[in-house]
Amino acid sequence: MRCPFCSAQDTRVLDSRLISDGDQVRRRRECNVCKERFTTFEVAELMMPRVIKRNGVSEPFDEIKLRAGMLRALEKRPVSADDIEAAINRIKKELMDKGEREIQAQELGEKVMKELSQLDHVAYVRFASVYRSFQDVSEFTDMIEDLQKK
Ligand SMILES: [Zn+2]
Repeated sequence: MRCPFCSAQDTRVLDSRLISDGDQVRRRRECNVCKERFTTFEVAELMMPRVIKRNGVSEPFDEIKLRAGMLRALEKRPVSADDIEAAINRIKKELMDKGEREIQAQELGEKVMKELSQLDHVAYVRFASVYRSFQDVSEFTDMIEDLQKK
């Protein structure tokens, strides 16, 4: 791990601990050259499947993009950051538990919608309207009617 202060390669780990229910490792490191200290977070990204987009192109699972999409849908909604992180972790865990190398983008989208429907209905409709890029208006109104029935 390269030192972010002086770019030296020679750094050592002072302390490691598991966070987020053991899904991440937080490490405190010290640079042996300039003696600055810094923190790194490690996530087992290799276990995540690649995402196959509608056009057939696959890309690595991108947690940052997933979070950004969910946060956009949840903008100004009364949902706590902890609840959002828990939802993201549930999605990641489901993907890891499946243990498949690839997942259709659509299936990932459905998982996000399932989580959003439990967090906040307005965010759910916002996300769904963008995500599904509705084939026709009736599909959109069907979804809103479904929500109102619940
Ligand atoms: Zn350094």
